[in-house]
Amino acid sequence: MFSSTKTSLRRARISPWRVRDRRYDGRVKAPDVIVCGAGVIGCAIARELASAGAAVTVVERGRPGEEASGAAAGLLTTQADIASDSPFARLCRKSGALYPALVASLARETGIDVPFTVCGTLRVAADAEDARAMSELAAWQESVGWTIERVSGGRLVELSGRTLSPEFREGLYFREEAVIDNRELVRALQISAESRGARFVTGRPAVAVIIESRACVGVVTPEGNMAAGAVIDAAGCWAAFDPALSFPIPIRPLRGQIVELAADEGPPPCVLHCGGFYVAPRERGRILLGSTVEDVGFDNAVTAGAVEDLVSRAISLAPRLSGARFVAAWSGLRPVAPDGLPILGETPLANFYLATGHFRNGILLAPATARVLVDAVLGRRTDVDVVPFGLARFDASGPDDGPFRFRFTGGNASW
Ligand SMILES: Cc1cc2nc3c(=O)[nH]c(=O)nc-3n(C[C@H](O)[C@H](O)[C@H](O)COP(=O)(O)OP(=O)(O)OC[C@H]3O[C@@H](n4cnc5c(N)ncnc54)[C@H](O)[C@@H]3O)c2cc1C
Repeated sequence: MFSSTKTSLRRARISPWRVRDRRYDGRVKAPDVIVCGAGVIGCAIARELASAGAAVTVVERGRPGEEASGAAAGLLTTQADIASDSPFARLCRKSGALYPALVASLARETGIDVPFTVCGTLRVAADAEDARAMSELAAWQESVGWTIERVSGGRLVELSGRTLSPEFREGLYFREEAVIDNRELVRALQISAESRGARFVTGRPAVAVIIESRACVGVVTPEGNMAAGAVIDAAGCWAAFDPALSFPIPIRPLRGQIVELAADEGPPPCVLHCGGFYVAPRERGRILLGSTVEDVGFDNAVTAGAVEDLVSRAISLAPRLSGARFVAAWSGLRPVAPDGLPILGETPLANFYLATGHFRNGILLAPATARVLVDAVLGRRTDVDVVPFGLARFDASGPDDGPFRFRFTGGNASW
């Protein structure tokens, strides 16, 4: 049950004008939890919280899924990048393993069959250093018993659907990796969350959090205050939307651009991955080339240079694509923390939680993130080692030692 948040609602000392605000819109009672942001992270959390019996309102500045979550390539990379054990690797594996059941349950609840294909990933080396890194990765994965295939010759050609350039003689094949239609995923998560009682308020930004007696009791929006027992900030790279908070939220954007092609012969049968670049097969024969990682602030332009670079890398990897048709190009802003890991869970402000910083893995990490956040808000034990993902890791005095004292002086400090 939703005991801890209900308790915190009762405990929150809310002034008379805020009590009035708790019937915001004049119709609806204050929710137990407000989630700021309806990207994949906010929608997944709203669904999970609503399933746990919480009254949830999602406040979205624009429209659900229109930022990074709609721009993503939809790769669920649970293996091709993992060269050793770590809490992050475990979180990725855990979240990836939740996908088959999630997709099945979304189909039952919403009628939306989110395209999800276990197509595998074929990784080839970009250069000698990459080859060495791949060899270490393969040795470690074999030592822990993961399924991995070292491929060469005819098998390499066959796995790539005869698309791979003959320059590449060997590679690693990760047969269990999947791709998902991230836009349909967000749509289905939202509909499922709504069917479980969550309410979505779109076109309305949260501009500040409301603090009473050192606890967060709601958010300020241009249309009025909204009260809640807890607030989860899932606003992606805009997570530091309240400049008056007494602690920094060290998140910045890193732009990614993608090109979509179409080819009469269709896409390669699996993801082709080389030196951080990929050619990904998607639903209905779509071919995605991605993606750039650019430090350009909140500029989400699509640039000629990036399109040229992505297309020329694709043709070097799979020469057959030189005859493919250009369909579209787009960009998105990934939320990134100084160490590249997500920031999940509590903050120095009681009842104010963070779920951001998912960088290149937010689609993959959405199901596990939702569980971690619901456990945090409900005060339940979680089976994830959350310390490495806590905001307190940026505290100069260490996660367990006294009040938060950040190494950074502001949300965009020098990192
Ligand atoms: C080109 C590209 C390729 C990618 N490929 C992959 C991939 O293959 N696999 C993978 O796992 N990940 C991928 N990612 C990363 C992934 O897309 C992100 O990590 C993930 O989408 C982050 O989700 P989010 O919900 O935190 O952020 P977003 O999707 O950006 O959502 C944040 C939401 O908050 C809203 N918002 C902002 N400010 C406010 C406010 N003040 N009040 C209310 N709402 C607000 C925004 O409008 C937005 O809808 C890719 C990203 C890019 C850009």
